[in-house]
Amino acid sequence: MKALVIEKIGQAGFREIDAPQPKADEVLIDVKHVGLCGSDLNTFRGTNPLSKLPRIPGHEIGGVIRSAGSEVPVEFSNGASVIVIPYSTCGKCSSCLNGRENACKYNETLGVQKDGGMSTSIVVHHDRLIRNDQLKPAHLALVEPLSVGFHAVARGRVSEKDTVVVLGGGMIGVGAMLGAKARGARVIAVEVSEEKHAPLLGLGVDHVINPMKEDLEKTLATLTNGNGADVVVEAVGLPETFRAAIDLVCFSGRVVYVGYAKSEVSYNTSLFNLKELDILGSRNATRADFDAVIAFISGQEELASSLISRVFPWAEADQAFEYWEANRNKTFKVMINLADG
Ligand SMILES: [Zn+2]
Ligand SMILES: [Zn+2]
Repeated sequence: MKALVIEKIGQAGFREIDAPQPKADEVLIDVKHVGLCGSDLNTFRGTNPLSKLPRIPGHEIGGVIRSAGSEVPVEFSNGASVIVIPYSTCGKCSSCLNGRENACKYNETLGVQKDGGMSTSIVVHHDRLIRNDQLKPAHLALVEPLSVGFHAVARGRVSEKDTVVVLGGGMIGVGAMLGAKARGARVIAVEVSEEKHAPLLGLGVDHVINPMKEDLEKTLATLTNGNGADVVVEAVGLPETFRAAIDLVCFSGRVVYVGYAKSEVSYNTSLFNLKELDILGSRNATRADFDAVIAFISGQEELASSLISRVFPWAEADQAFEYWEANRNKTFKVMINLADG
């Protein structure tokens, strides 16, 4: 079978590799669509500390089951369309024992710590699958990235009473915005790329602020009676946005960090106390988050399709990283269609 391999920093190419064989509790999936994640791009750039090269990237996976082992439930028989939950669980660490497998100490995500879905077929355990025959095939690959943002707002206990500021209009930020809207909150997006403003408003976001053009704190103050946001979700990963989250949140508010900072962040911690903040980390997503995303995008085909900025046929998948890198300011999701070419 054919796989796209990140061989060296900045270099991806196709390789012919042996097709994997499913064990009794596993299924063999024909991969149909794979989305590119920021972490894949970081692996390509050599700035993903969790990933070693060479690596087959890809953990946003939609496909169709080709064969199933003898112990696999009938739900996952041949021909079923599935979404892959790309994280692993050890069952023994404190997270796993506390019902928070998404933050497993020993998690290995497909395409990050181990080879992923950017290949014509992949083998996974049946408990890492969600069957869905309703969503459009390409939309199956949107569920994982959106679920990461949905998890962030679940961590922030977002409700219809809240004004939520989301820093960053990448796919994780967009997931947080949609997740907050799904919970009935008012959503203010902060995004430096002007080209993303109209699309974000089109998704139902209530306000978009460009912090390069407006005084962010002042604008937010006028939108919140001087209080600041009830919840701030940081989905950028820069020291300044990590700090801004603390400044923008209201007294007794909640800050959720889902962006992954690549350098140290220094704080004046006094606001942690004075505001009595809940500061929450957010990692990956739970099965409940996947289900919430599926419920949200079911019947919203147009909205879901609007998140897919560019689809590359499989034969041109090796060009997708450079395309995304050059077009980040106007791109939500870049996807590979393995069923094409
Ligand atoms: Zn991802
Ligand atoms: Zn664990």
